Amino acid sequence: MTAAPPVLVAGGGVAGAAAALLLARAGRPVTVLEKEALPANKMCGEFISVEAQRYLDFLGIDLTALGAAPITTVAATLGARTVAHALPFAGLSLSRYVVDEALLQAAEGAGTTVVRGTRVTGIEQQAGGHLAVHCERDAYHPGAVLLATGKHEMPGDKRKVASGVEPLIGFKMYFELSPAQTQALAGRIELLFFDGGYAGLQPVEDGRANLCLLVHEKRFARAGGRWLDLLGALMGETPRLARLLTDAVPLLAHPLAIYRVPYGFVHQPRKGEPAALYRLGDQFAVTHSFTGDGMALALQSAAMAAGSIIAATDAATYHRALAKGVSGQVRRSMLLYRLGRRRPLLRAAITVGSWFPQLLSAGAAWTRLPPALLDNTIAAIAPTAPDVG
Ligand SMILES: Cc1cc2nc3c(=O)[nH]c(=O)nc-3n(C[C@H](O)[C@H](O)[C@H](O)COP(=O)(O)OP(=O)(O)OC[C@H]3O[C@@H](n4cnc5c(N)ncnc54)[C@H](O)[C@@H]3O)c2cc1C
Repeated sequence: MTAAPPVLVAGGGVAGAAAALLLARAGRPVTVLEKEALPANKMCGEFISVEAQRYLDFLGIDLTALGAAPITTVAATLGARTVAHALPFAGLSLSRYVVDEALLQAAEGAGTTVVRGTRVTGIEQQAGGHLAVHCERDAYHPGAVLLATGKHEMPGDKRKVASGVEPLIGFKMYFELSPAQTQALAGRIELLFFDGGYAGLQPVEDGRANLCLLVHEKRFARAGGRWLDLLGALMGETPRLARLLTDAVPLLAHPLAIYRVPYGFVHQPRKGEPAALYRLGDQFAVTHSFTGDGMALALQSAAMAAGSIIAATDAATYHRALAKGVSGQVRRSMLLYRLGRRRPLLRAAITVGSWFPQLLSAGAAWTRLPPALLDNTIAAIAPTAPDVG
């Protein structure tokens, strides 16, 4: 019997680490190349949806033992008006620093070689369809490559988004709140809408709060083009944000920032694409952040890509199956986001939602991964991963 060809994973975030873990548990030789030398904070609201929870549980990651905070209520604020509802499912909140590291360590424990502090600089298709993966100092020649490097494009790999990419800036900052603010935020995700964007505020582990927001570049410029000016302006116009953050202590020297996330992107297979190059997570599709389901999509892609490699199906077949499973979710997230940008519609949705909370549940279900997709994917991969509880 010939040995299974080695798999190389570019990027050790949720998608890459989860796929490596599944492949290693199925006995495949796997190497992960991760650009960060040490565990790092990541741009994310850190809301863990029920779908992401299901995959992480399947992978053996115990979120509660890692300190995840429960999120049971969503509160939406526009100006001085706040409406709160019970979430249609119990969410969790845990920093990506902890989640990604737990996955990467589990992958390593299952036999994956994790090479940290190594940036993939290019992937080249050579004669005979073989792939060469180039890093700053080295080159690898694996049997299959999982591209899981997240939102940003690899050199020479321009991604197209049919509706264009909005010039939005994402910011994230952790805060230490006062005891009263901590109590007011317990169990809640607060969505605060403002002219030119929205913010999410929720507790994470260790009593900290994560403020993650998206703002149009023009609004940011109008606010003075500096993070502290923007935060001051938002607290000035949104009394609830002011109540939750006045005198809160920022815990990072600078906020994490990101620009022009390609929301709405879904990979369209191209002719002549390498048969052994599998795109995962944000490299395959970017659902809108407000759904809080990006990690679930990344984990979905990881489970399907691992299943595809184990079953020896090519990347095009995997890409088609994944597109069938997730592109509806991405399309609907974009539609709701665009509708929500219209102030009168957003105000009406918040008001109607306060009368009929079941409409909010229906809206949430509309932008999430379908449960049947998770059932089928987990059933298909479970027999190949005997260690998974
Ligand atoms: C503002 C914002 C808020 C969000 N909030 C949420 C939320 O609350 N809940 C949720 O579920 N989703 C949320 N998301 C989406 C979620 O963050 C992503 O969908 C998810 O992280 C995708 O996982 P990934 O593994 O594909 O990419 P990533 O998590 O970005 O992982 C990519 C990994 O690859 C590494 N890497 C990058 N380039 C290279 C390279 N060249 N070589 C080697 N390694 C490399 C990176 O260091 C990283 O570890 C949010 C996104 C944004 C922008």
